[in-house]
Amino acid sequence: MDCLFCKIAAKEIPAEIAFENERVVAFADINPQAPTHLQIIPREHIASTLEVEPARRELIGELVEVAAELARERGISDEGYRLVFNTGGAAGQSVYHIHLHLLGGRSFGWPPG
Ligand code: 5GP
Ligand code: ZN
Repeated sequence: MDCLFCKIAAKEIPAEIAFENERVVAFADINPQAPTHLQIIPREHIASTLEVEPARRELIGELVEVAAELARERGISDEGYRLVFNTGGAAGQSVYHIHLHLLGGRSFGWPPG
């Protein structure tokens, strides 16, 4: 499949890997929007949150768990951090392989832009 994040997960395209196991890969965003900006993805190709279904609940939950663990490791869990799933064009999704943004190391506005 011609998918950028599948290729990163398969190490066909290099990325700075922060964590990986059999199901999940986390890597540094190429264009970071905060001092910490990681992408947490499943190895399985899932296009967006619209494809989350009962059989995938545990996997999607693991993305959140890995994000929290990475936030602790990087010392941003106490101050707080932001997790984002952009879904579709209006939200600015540009890569159609589901990814959880972990952003931290600065303050964030609300509502988002
Ligand atoms: P989206 O806009 O789909 O929510 O987020 C896609 C993210 O992927 C963006 O933050 C963008 O900077 C990041 N990204 C796009 N291409 C690459 C790449 O080749 N390598 C890495 N590490 N990140 C990428
Ligand atoms: Zn993919």
